[in-house]
Amino acid sequence: MVFSSLAERLQETFKKLRNKGSLKEADVSEALREVRVALLEADVNFKVVKDFVNKVKEKAIGQDILSSLTPAQQVIKIVHQELMDLMGGEYSKINLAPKPPTVIMMVGLHGAGKTTTSAKLANFLRKQGRRPLLVAGDIHRPAAIKQLQVLGEQLDIPVFTMGDKQAPAVIARAAIENASNSGRDLVIIDTAGRLHIDEELMDELEAVKSEVKPNEILLVVDAMTGQDAVNVAEVFNRRMQLNGVIMTKLDGDTRGGAALSVKAVTGCPIKFAGIGEKLDALETFHPDRMADRILG
Ligand code: GDP
Repeated sequence: MVFSSLAERLQETFKKLRNKGSLKEADVSEALREVRVALLEADVNFKVVKDFVNKVKEKAIGQDILSSLTPAQQVIKIVHQELMDLMGGEYSKINLAPKPPTVIMMVGLHGAGKTTTSAKLANFLRKQGRRPLLVAGDIHRPAAIKQLQVLGEQLDIPVFTMGDKQAPAVIARAAIENASNSGRDLVIIDTAGRLHIDEELMDELEAVKSEVKPNEILLVVDAMTGQDAVNVAEVFNRRMQLNGVIMTKLDGDTRGGAALSVKAVTGCPIKFAGIGEKLDALETFHPDRMADRILG
């Protein structure tokens, strides 16, 4: 599970710190050196690590906590707070349209889990009372249209498709009209992916964006690709102004470097986490719970 190796390392560091009782500045520095190495080994962006350690150090040494009765506890509390902040602090909700339907556009590279996550998100939001319509907007891979239809059938959620002959922007526009006419208050548009970011893909996605003006553009990235996921998020965000990230495959990622870096590097919060292949394996991303998981 995500953060398992980082959690083990940090818990060990803080156990040593707690066992010391009273602390000197050098003890804190030593612990923070270990935190730094643990974060780097977890594949957190090096600049993020540097800023993180500096912030903790400033607070731990600046706030007179070393003379408190439970200095180690205070240091851990600061680390907890900073880990939370790193991941966005509060959990980030999705923007609902003041007037339905809410339109969510899913973007991302091939294999990140975009199609599966579109279905998972529809399922998740249906449980909260929404009436979703899934839209097959990847016209480049006929298999993607079929895949979405199969997932829709499994979930009993309608899938809007116009085959692969119309432009995705046209399909998206028609889907929204279809949703309005059939009482659907949520439209989730699956879009094309590529193995790598290219101009043609970005142009196509921008065309969809300007045609339907989505309430949310969510980037799906694979946590297991580590800092590559963060780089992808940076590029997509620059072009598309993302509202958030959905980080998939956290179940298979023991390091968690992408999850810890993406908000700090791009400014985009992680809104959901994929934690398995099943269609109910999606959860809202809670920075506080993630920080709890890391610190035990
Ligand atoms: P797309 O090309 O981005 O549309 O990717 P797909 O939706 O086809 O997903 C690619 C693979 O990743 C599929 O085998 C999915 O079952 C798998 N997948 C997606 N999300 C998760 C996740 O959160 N955990 C795990 N373990 N697998 C996932």
